Amino acid sequence: MYPAAFDYHAPTTVKDALKLLGKLDDAKLLAGGHSLIPMMKLRLAQPKHLIDLGKVKGLGGVKEEKGVIVVGAMTTHWEVESSKVLKAKVPVVSETAAVIGDPAVRNKGTIGGSLAHGDPAADMPATAIALGFEFVCEGPKGKRTVKVDDWFKGLMETALKDTELLTTIRIPVWAAGSGACYMKFPHPASRFAIVGVCAAVTLDKGGVCKKVGVGVTGAGTRAVRAKTVEAALLNKPLDAKTIEAAAQKAADGVDVQADLQGSVEYKSHLCRVFARRALEAAVKRAQG
Ligand SMILES: Cc1cc2nc3c(=O)[nH]c(=O)nc-3n(C[C@H](O)[C@H](O)[C@H](O)COP(=O)(O)OP(=O)(O)OC[C@H]3O[C@@H](n4cnc5c(N)ncnc54)[C@H](O)[C@@H]3O)c2cc1C
Repeated sequence: MYPAAFDYHAPTTVKDALKLLGKLDDAKLLAGGHSLIPMMKLRLAQPKHLIDLGKVKGLGGVKEEKGVIVVGAMTTHWEVESSKVLKAKVPVVSETAAVIGDPAVRNKGTIGGSLAHGDPAADMPATAIALGFEFVCEGPKGKRTVKVDDWFKGLMETALKDTELLTTIRIPVWAAGSGACYMKFPHPASRFAIVGVCAAVTLDKGGVCKKVGVGVTGAGTRAVRAKTVEAALLNKPLDAKTIEAAAQKAADGVDVQADLQGSVEYKSHLCRVFARRALEAAVKRAQG
Protein backbone atom coordinates (compact mmCIF):
# COMPACT_ATOMS: atom_id res chain seq x y z
CA MET A 1 0.00 0.00 0.00
CA TYR A 2 1.26 3.45 -0.89
CA PRO A 3 0.12 6.81 0.44
CA ALA A 4 -1.13 9.50 -1.93
CA ALA A 5 1.60 11.86 -3.17
CA PHE A 6 2.72 14.63 -0.80
CA ASP A 7 5.48 17.23 -0.48
CA TYR A 8 8.04 16.64 2.27
CA HIS A 9 9.46 19.41 4.49
CA ALA A 10 12.19 19.05 7.10
CA PRO A 11 12.51 22.22 9.23
CA THR A 12 15.19 22.39 11.93
CA THR A 13 13.55 24.85 14.35
CA VAL A 14 10.15 25.08 16.05
CA LYS A 15 9.79 28.55 14.53
CA ASP A 16 10.27 27.24 10.99
CA ALA A 17 7.96 24.27 11.61
CA LEU A 18 5.24 26.67 12.80
CA LYS A 19 5.81 28.96 9.80
CA LEU A 20 5.33 26.02 7.43
CA LEU A 21 2.26 24.84 9.36
CA GLY A 22 0.70 28.31 9.06
CA LYS A 23 1.62 28.80 5.40
CA LEU A 24 0.96 25.43 3.76
CA ASP A 25 -2.50 24.30 2.79
CA ASP A 26 -3.45 20.84 4.16
CA ALA A 27 -0.21 20.08 6.02
CA LYS A 28 0.39 17.45 8.73
CA LEU A 29 3.18 17.21 11.27
CA LEU A 30 5.14 13.95 11.17
CA ALA A 31 6.73 12.57 14.37
CA GLY A 32 7.46 8.82 14.53
CA GLY A 33 4.98 8.14 11.73
CA HIS A 34 3.62 5.00 13.39
CA SER A 35 0.05 6.28 13.40
CA LEU A 36 0.11 8.82 10.57
CA ILE A 37 1.86 6.72 7.90
CA PRO A 38 -0.48 3.70 8.29
CA MET A 39 -3.43 6.11 8.04
CA MET A 40 -1.93 7.61 4.88
CA LYS A 41 -1.35 4.17 3.39
CA LEU A 42 -4.98 3.31 4.05
CA ARG A 43 -5.91 6.68 2.51
CA LEU A 44 -7.68 7.65 5.73
CA ALA A 45 -5.41 10.71 5.66
CA GLN A 46 -4.15 12.36 2.47
CA PRO A 47 -2.24 15.49 3.50
CA LYS A 48 -0.65 17.49 0.68
CA HIS A 49 2.37 18.32 2.85
CA LEU A 50 4.26 16.47 5.59
CA ILE A 51 6.32 18.56 8.02
CA ASP A 52 8.82 16.19 9.57
CA LEU A 53 9.72 17.09 13.17
CA GLY A 54 12.65 14.65 13.19
CA LYS A 55 15.31 17.33 12.66
CA VAL A 56 13.73 20.04 14.82
CA LYS A 57 16.06 20.92 17.68
CA GLY A 58 14.93 20.99 21.29
CA LEU A 59 11.94 18.65 21.07
CA GLY A 60 13.52 15.57 22.67
CA GLY A 61 14.80 14.47 26.05
CA VAL A 62 13.72 14.09 29.66
CA LYS A 63 14.74 16.41 32.49
CA GLU A 64 13.62 17.40 35.98
CA GLU A 65 12.68 21.03 36.62
CA LYS A 66 11.54 22.11 40.09
CA GLY A 67 9.77 18.87 40.97
CA VAL A 68 8.22 18.41 37.52
CA ILE A 69 9.49 16.00 34.88
CA VAL A 70 9.67 17.71 31.52
CA VAL A 71 9.57 15.42 28.49
CA GLY A 72 10.10 16.66 24.92
CA ALA A 73 7.31 15.69 22.54
CA MET A 74 9.70 13.88 20.17
CA THR A 75 11.03 11.60 22.91
CA THR A 76 10.44 8.04 21.69
CA HIS A 77 8.52 5.45 23.67
CA TRP A 78 11.80 3.55 24.10
CA GLU A 79 13.51 6.64 25.55
CA VAL A 80 10.58 7.10 27.96
CA GLU A 81 10.72 3.41 28.86
CA SER A 82 14.46 3.53 29.61
CA SER A 83 14.80 7.05 31.10
CA LYS A 84 16.59 6.94 34.46
CA VAL A 85 14.81 10.09 35.63
CA LEU A 86 11.36 8.75 34.83
CA LYS A 87 12.13 5.33 36.31
CA ALA A 88 13.23 6.97 39.55
CA LYS A 89 10.55 9.66 39.86
CA VAL A 90 7.45 8.40 38.03
CA PRO A 91 8.11 4.75 37.17
CA VAL A 92 4.54 4.18 35.96
CA VAL A 93 5.26 6.41 32.95
CA SER A 94 8.21 4.22 31.91
CA GLU A 95 6.14 1.11 32.58
CA THR A 96 3.32 2.40 30.39
CA ALA A 97 5.73 3.16 27.53
CA ALA A 98 7.21 -0.34 27.89
CA VAL A 99 3.89 -2.01 26.97
CA ILE A 100 3.22 0.08 23.85
CA GLY A 101 3.20 -2.08 20.70
CA ASP A 102 6.49 -3.86 19.99
CA PRO A 103 10.16 -2.77 19.89
CA ALA A 104 9.84 -1.36 16.35
CA VAL A 105 6.87 0.82 17.38
CA ARG A 106 8.61 1.94 20.59
CA ASN A 107 11.79 2.87 18.75
CA LYS A 108 10.06 5.21 16.31
CA GLY A 109 6.79 6.25 17.98
CA THR A 110 6.92 9.29 20.26
CA ILE A 111 5.16 10.29 23.45
CA GLY A 112 4.09 13.57 21.82
CA GLY A 113 2.78 11.78 18.73
CA SER A 114 0.73 9.43 20.84
CA LEU A 115 -0.74 12.17 23.03
CA ALA A 116 -1.38 14.54 20.09
CA HIS A 117 -3.02 11.79 18.05
CA GLY A 118 -5.49 10.81 20.80
CA ASP A 119 -6.07 7.24 19.61
CA PRO A 120 -8.84 5.85 21.85
CA ALA A 121 -6.86 2.62 22.41
CA ALA A 122 -3.49 4.24 23.17
CA ASP A 123 -1.88 3.47 26.52
CA MET A 124 -0.25 6.73 27.66
CA PRO A 125 -3.52 8.72 27.85
CA ALA A 126 -4.70 6.64 30.85
CA THR A 127 -1.46 7.37 32.71
CA ALA A 128 -1.55 11.03 31.66
CA ILE A 129 -5.02 11.36 33.23
CA ALA A 130 -4.18 9.46 36.42
CA LEU A 131 -1.02 11.47 37.13
CA GLY A 132 -2.23 14.85 35.81
CA PHE A 133 0.07 15.60 32.85
CA GLU A 134 0.17 19.10 31.35
CA PHE A 135 0.75 19.83 27.67
CA VAL A 136 2.78 22.77 26.41
CA CYS A 137 1.68 23.81 22.92
CA GLU A 138 3.34 26.42 20.73
CA GLY A 139 1.53 28.28 17.97
CA PRO A 140 1.60 31.60 16.09
CA LYS A 141 0.42 33.41 19.24
CA GLY A 142 3.07 31.85 21.49
CA LYS A 143 2.93 29.13 24.13
CA ARG A 144 0.02 27.85 26.20
CA THR A 145 -0.31 25.04 28.71
CA VAL A 146 -3.31 22.70 28.71
CA LYS A 147 -4.23 20.47 31.64
CA VAL A 148 -4.94 16.82 30.88
CA ASP A 149 -8.61 17.12 31.84
CA ASP A 150 -9.03 19.61 28.97
CA TRP A 151 -6.89 17.67 26.48
CA PHE A 152 -8.75 14.59 25.18
CA LYS A 153 -11.82 15.97 23.40
CA GLY A 154 -13.16 13.04 21.36
CA LEU A 155 -12.21 10.33 18.90
CA MET A 156 -8.65 11.26 17.82
CA GLU A 157 -9.39 14.83 18.83
CA THR A 158 -7.36 16.81 21.33
CA ALA A 159 -7.20 20.44 22.44
CA LEU A 160 -4.29 20.99 20.04
CA LYS A 161 -5.11 23.54 17.31
CA ASP A 162 -4.25 22.95 13.63
CA THR A 163 -1.71 25.77 13.81
CA GLU A 164 0.00 24.44 16.95
CA LEU A 165 2.74 22.02 17.82
CA LEU A 166 2.93 20.03 21.04
CA THR A 167 6.44 20.77 22.29
CA THR A 168 6.62 19.48 25.85
CA ILE A 169 4.80 17.27 28.31
CA ARG A 170 4.99 18.18 32.00
CA ILE A 171 4.62 15.32 34.47
CA PRO A 172 4.10 16.05 38.19
CA VAL A 173 6.00 13.98 40.74
CA TRP A 174 3.61 12.74 43.42
CA ALA A 175 4.56 13.00 47.11
CA ALA A 176 6.14 10.27 49.24
CA GLY A 177 3.59 7.61 50.16
CA SER A 178 2.33 7.41 46.57
CA GLY A 179 2.08 4.47 44.22
CA ALA A 180 0.81 4.01 40.69
CA CYS A 181 0.22 1.21 38.23
CA TYR A 182 -0.95 0.85 34.60
CA MET A 183 -2.53 -2.41 33.49
CA LYS A 184 -4.15 -3.31 30.20
CA PHE A 185 -5.90 -6.11 28.41
CA PRO A 186 -3.96 -5.94 25.13
CA HIS A 187 -5.15 -6.74 21.65
CA PRO A 188 -3.21 -9.92 20.80
CA ALA A 189 -1.95 -8.59 17.45
CA SER A 190 -1.31 -4.84 17.85
CA ARG A 191 -0.92 -4.72 21.66
CA PHE A 192 -3.20 -1.65 21.69
CA ALA A 193 -5.37 -1.53 24.84
CA ILE A 194 -8.77 -3.16 24.48
CA VAL A 195 -9.09 -1.70 27.96
CA GLY A 196 -6.31 -0.10 30.00
CA VAL A 197 -6.48 1.49 33.45
CA CYS A 198 -3.91 3.58 35.29
CA ALA A 199 -4.42 4.14 39.02
CA ALA A 200 -2.37 6.45 41.23
CA VAL A 201 -2.87 6.96 44.98
CA THR A 202 -1.26 8.81 47.86
CA LEU A 203 -1.80 7.32 51.33
CA ASP A 204 -1.23 8.99 54.67
CA LYS A 205 0.49 7.17 57.55
CA GLY A 206 -2.82 5.61 58.59
CA GLY A 207 -3.42 4.21 55.09
CA VAL A 208 -6.12 6.76 54.22
CA CYS A 209 -6.26 7.88 50.56
CA LYS A 210 -5.33 11.58 50.34
CA LYS A 211 -4.97 11.86 46.57
CA VAL A 212 -6.16 9.61 43.75
CA GLY A 213 -6.17 9.56 39.95
CA VAL A 214 -7.74 6.91 37.74
CA GLY A 215 -7.60 7.01 33.92
CA VAL A 216 -9.39 4.58 31.62
CA THR A 217 -8.43 4.02 27.97
CA GLY A 218 -9.54 1.68 25.19
CA ALA A 219 -13.18 1.19 26.06
CA GLY A 220 -14.67 4.41 24.68
CA THR A 221 -14.02 7.02 22.01
CA ARG A 222 -11.44 8.78 24.21
CA ALA A 223 -9.54 8.19 27.41
CA VAL A 224 -11.40 9.53 30.47
CA ARG A 225 -10.99 10.15 34.15
CA ALA A 226 -12.99 7.64 36.26
CA LYS A 227 -14.41 10.34 38.52
CA THR A 228 -16.86 8.13 40.42
CA VAL A 229 -14.08 5.64 41.21
CA GLU A 230 -11.90 8.46 42.51
CA ALA A 231 -14.74 9.85 44.64
CA ALA A 232 -15.34 6.41 46.15
CA LEU A 233 -11.69 6.20 47.28
CA LEU A 234 -10.77 9.70 48.44
CA ASN A 235 -10.40 10.09 52.22
CA LYS A 236 -11.08 6.38 52.81
CA PRO A 237 -8.75 3.65 54.04
CA LEU A 238 -8.01 1.60 50.93
CA ASP A 239 -8.89 -1.93 52.05
CA ALA A 240 -9.94 -4.68 49.64
CA LYS A 241 -13.66 -4.02 50.13
CA THR A 242 -13.39 -0.29 49.40
CA ILE A 243 -11.26 -0.92 46.31
CA GLU A 244 -13.66 -3.57 45.00
CA ALA A 245 -16.69 -1.31 45.53
CA ALA A 246 -14.95 1.64 43.83
CA ALA A 247 -13.74 -0.48 40.89
CA GLN A 248 -17.34 -1.53 40.22
CA LYS A 249 -17.90 2.07 39.04
CA ALA A 250 -15.03 2.05 36.53
CA ALA A 251 -17.24 2.06 33.42
CA ASP A 252 -19.42 4.94 34.72
CA GLY A 253 -18.84 7.98 32.52
CA VAL A 254 -17.03 5.96 29.83
CA ASP A 255 -18.87 5.94 26.47
CA VAL A 256 -18.08 2.23 26.07
CA GLN A 257 -18.16 1.20 22.40
CA ALA A 258 -18.98 -2.22 21.00
CA ASP A 259 -16.58 -3.22 18.22
CA LEU A 260 -14.74 -6.23 16.80
CA GLN A 261 -12.90 -6.55 20.13
CA GLY A 262 -16.00 -6.98 22.26
CA SER A 263 -19.48 -5.97 23.35
CA VAL A 264 -20.33 -3.07 25.66
CA GLU A 265 -20.92 -5.57 28.50
CA TYR A 266 -17.58 -7.30 27.95
CA LYS A 267 -15.57 -4.06 27.81
CA SER A 268 -17.39 -2.63 30.84
CA HIS A 269 -16.48 -5.80 32.72
CA LEU A 270 -12.83 -5.37 31.68
CA CYS A 271 -12.91 -1.77 32.97
CA ARG A 272 -14.02 -3.01 36.40
CA VAL A 273 -11.52 -5.89 36.54
CA PHE A 274 -8.54 -3.81 35.42
CA ALA A 275 -9.48 -0.91 37.69
CA ARG A 276 -9.44 -3.26 40.67
CA ARG A 277 -6.12 -4.83 39.67
CA ALA A 278 -4.44 -1.47 38.96
CA LEU A 279 -5.74 -0.01 42.25
CA GLU A 280 -4.58 -3.00 44.28
CA ALA A 281 -1.10 -2.74 42.75
CA ALA A 282 -0.96 1.05 43.22
CA VAL A 283 -1.90 0.72 46.91
CA LYS A 284 0.70 -1.99 47.44
CA ARG A 285 3.36 0.27 45.93
CA ALA A 286 2.23 3.24 48.02
CA GLN A 287 2.59 1.10 51.14
CA GLY A 288 6.23 0.47 50.12
C1 LIG B 1 1.74 -2.06 14.86
C2 LIG B 1 1.47 -0.92 15.80
C3 LIG B 1 1.16 -1.21 17.12
C4 LIG B 1 0.91 -0.18 18.03
N1 LIG B 1 0.59 -0.51 19.30
C5 LIG B 1 0.35 0.48 20.20
C6 LIG B 1 0.02 0.18 21.55
O1 LIG B 1 -0.02 -0.96 21.97
N2 LIG B 1 -0.23 1.23 22.38
C7 LIG B 1 -0.17 2.54 21.97
O2 LIG B 1 -0.40 3.44 22.77
N3 LIG B 1 0.16 2.85 20.71
C8 LIG B 1 0.41 1.86 19.81
N4 LIG B 1 0.74 2.19 18.53
C9 LIG B 1 0.80 3.61 18.12
C10 LIG B 1 2.19 4.17 18.39
O3 LIG B 1 2.37 4.34 19.76
C11 LIG B 1 2.41 5.52 17.67
O4 LIG B 1 3.77 5.71 17.74
C12 LIG B 1 1.76 6.75 18.30
O5 LIG B 1 0.39 6.62 18.43
C13 LIG B 1 1.94 7.97 17.43
O6 LIG B 1 3.20 8.48 17.63
P1 LIG B 1 4.11 8.87 16.42
O7 LIG B 1 5.28 9.56 16.98
O8 LIG B 1 4.35 7.68 15.58
O9 LIG B 1 3.19 9.96 15.67
P2 LIG B 1 2.83 10.16 14.14
O10 LIG B 1 2.24 8.93 13.57
O11 LIG B 1 3.97 10.75 13.40
O12 LIG B 1 1.71 11.29 14.30
C14 LIG B 1 0.44 10.99 14.82
C15 LIG B 1 -0.43 12.26 14.79
O13 LIG B 1 0.00 13.19 15.77
C16 LIG B 1 0.41 14.42 15.17
N5 LIG B 1 1.62 14.85 15.87
C17 LIG B 1 2.71 14.08 16.11
N6 LIG B 1 3.60 14.77 16.86
C18 LIG B 1 3.06 15.98 17.09
C19 LIG B 1 3.49 17.14 17.80
N7 LIG B 1 4.65 17.17 18.48
N8 LIG B 1 2.67 18.21 17.83
C20 LIG B 1 1.48 18.19 17.18
N9 LIG B 1 1.02 17.12 16.50
C21 LIG B 1 1.80 16.03 16.45
C22 LIG B 1 0.64 14.10 13.70
O14 LIG B 1 0.43 15.23 12.87
C23 LIG B 1 -0.39 13.01 13.47
O15 LIG B 1 -1.65 13.59 13.23
C24 LIG B 1 1.00 1.17 17.60
C25 LIG B 1 1.34 1.47 16.26
C26 LIG B 1 1.58 0.44 15.38
C27 LIG B 1 1.94 0.77 13.97
